[in-house]
Amino acid sequence: MIIKHDVVIVGAGLAGLRAALEASRYYDVAVVSKVFPTRSHSGAAQGGIAAAMGNVEEDHIDWHFFDTVKGSDYLADQNAAEVLVNDAIPAVYELEHMGVPFSRTPEGKINQRKFGGHTRNYGEAPVLRACFAADRTGHVLLHTLYDQCVKNNVRFYSEFFVTDILIKENIIRGLVAYDMIGGEFTTFHCKAMVFATGGYGRTYKITSNAHANTGDGLGILLRAGLPLEDMEFVQFHPTGLYRYGILLTEGARGEGAYLINNEGKRFMEKYAPKLMELAPRDMTSRSIQTEINEGFGINGEDYVYLDLRHLGEKKINERLPEITGFCRKIAGVDPVKEPIPIQPTAHYSMGGIPVTIDSEVLADGKSQKVEGFYAAGECACVSVHGANRLGTNSQLETVVFGRRAGKAIVEFLKENGTEKADLPEDQIKTSIDRVEGIKNNKGDEKVGVIRHELQETMMRKVGIFRDEQKLKEMLKKVRELEERAEHLQIDDKGMKFNTDLTEALELDNLLHFAEIIVSGALNRQESRGSQYRTDYPKRDDVNWLKHTLAFKKEGEFIFDYKPVVITKFQPKERKY
Ligand SMILES: Cc1cc2nc3c(=O)[nH]c(=O)nc-3n(C[C@H](O)[C@H](O)[C@H](O)COP(=O)(O)OP(=O)(O)OC[C@H]3O[C@@H](n4cnc5c(N)ncnc54)[C@H](O)[C@@H]3O)c2cc1C
Repeated sequence: MIIKHDVVIVGAGLAGLRAALEASRYYDVAVVSKVFPTRSHSGAAQGGIAAAMGNVEEDHIDWHFFDTVKGSDYLADQNAAEVLVNDAIPAVYELEHMGVPFSRTPEGKINQRKFGGHTRNYGEAPVLRACFAADRTGHVLLHTLYDQCVKNNVRFYSEFFVTDILIKENIIRGLVAYDMIGGEFTTFHCKAMVFATGGYGRTYKITSNAHANTGDGLGILLRAGLPLEDMEFVQFHPTGLYRYGILLTEGARGEGAYLINNEGKRFMEKYAPKLMELAPRDMTSRSIQTEINEGFGINGEDYVYLDLRHLGEKKINERLPEITGFCRKIAGVDPVKEPIPIQPTAHYSMGGIPVTIDSEVLADGKSQKVEGFYAAGECACVSVHGANRLGTNSQLETVVFGRRAGKAIVEFLKENGTEKADLPEDQIKTSIDRVEGIKNNKGDEKVGVIRHELQETMMRKVGIFRDEQKLKEMLKKVRELEERAEHLQIDDKGMKFNTDLTEALELDNLLHFAEIIVSGALNRQESRGSQYRTDYPKRDDVNWLKHTLAFKKEGEFIFDYKPVVITKFQPKERKY
């Protein structure tokens, strides 16, 4: 079956919906998503969305700009970071006017809380910058944007699993998807497309990410011969619920929670005396892991405590109802009375699809665009977060750059809107054959076993601390797993809701880019942001102040580099 729309958007998280809303003001827009839109991972976002509104105390856009660049360990492209911070305030007001129920100050303004790395006066002390709706910010943003899209007649194709894109002569033509409900392959034919497929936390065993976060968009782009940028930078969030990885928002520390070790000490005073628990995530996660490695974990185990007790029951229930509910229901811990066991959890992918500040996908990662193709949100690398993202800057990125993608498409279609370029039949066939091949494969390997081995070894060897030996071992392991994945056995031979098959497709995507994460980390002989090499513990601006680009050509990975855009803030030593 072939379905035609002017614009097709893959992904129904905040980035996809924001782009859809913008483009649907003028064009016929479809959103394709493998999960029901409001089940996208954006809905799990807790703590807030950054904007230097100054509603509660003095704040300035330039401070936000500085914090974002310093937080990124100077790898952010400053032209992009400037767009992010400048667009932040109008973007939040726009959301408010759409009906987002933000938490309020007593006089009725949007309330703001503290978050890691967001500071007053260029690093002096934490500042109240994150706009929030209790600890359910992503939930209310996602539902509001979904409402708005429905109102604008955006057409949704839910539970369609996109397998490949169709590009010919460097022009985007459409995509192939497996319609899980109908049980058949569907081709979408369009004039412009946005990828907003989210992150890939599921490459790791302990993660805050939804099961759907398998980075499919990135695997799809690699198969299409397009590059990925800065994939070695994977953020570990400091406070995942011990053993489960479920996120306990940084908003908890923003409200004043402490991190304590087995001696009952607030150990962050050793690592970040000025910002303490509100240091950026890369530093805080490393500090927790160091405490654990040096024997200061609680009862000698792999966790420390997040302590909320001194905040008092009223504030805890009012500001942090969601996460305290998780603690009670899942871990049997009542944060009003007991400290919460936590460990760092794989959380966010700084790298992704290289794009311009108007969200246009770059075929060579540098300047050549793919006509009609855009990417935004966590799957994209624009790069506003560089080597380490600040909390609350990601939801901001989704709405700012999703909106820009929508606007760019409207402009693009004014010139290129007359007819749809033809579909490459051979590519459609190759895509369907690949999926059928996986489904009908006769082997002795199981998806779950290979995925578990990948996640478990990535956790141990490409986690918070990395070194050459562990990375080389992991490279060998990924290649072994790739080879074993050739021998998968899919038990379900049906076509309707074949989750055995979709999990195999997700695994294929995970394995496709896992090698790039590992090789990128191995190549980068320095420590910067989330990439910490114990054998190269210093940042090396002379050799490594540059972005990694990785392509897959004829089965081999090729690496290239491009300079960082520096406009205002020269790299300095990073102290907090
Ligand atoms: C627990 C948690 C809490 C967070 N809290 C915050 C916070 O407080 N503040 C903040 O700024 N950031 C936060 N983040 C990060 C932020 O929420 C995400 O980075 C952001 O929401 C990602 O949005 P997105 O639109 O790019 O992707 P997602 O919301 O992840 O959506 C991805 C979409 O792509 C679709 N998709 C993927 N693959 C396919 C395929 N093969 N076929 C079809 N569809 C596909 C999915 O169905 C989904 O609709 C948090 C993240 C997590 C995990």
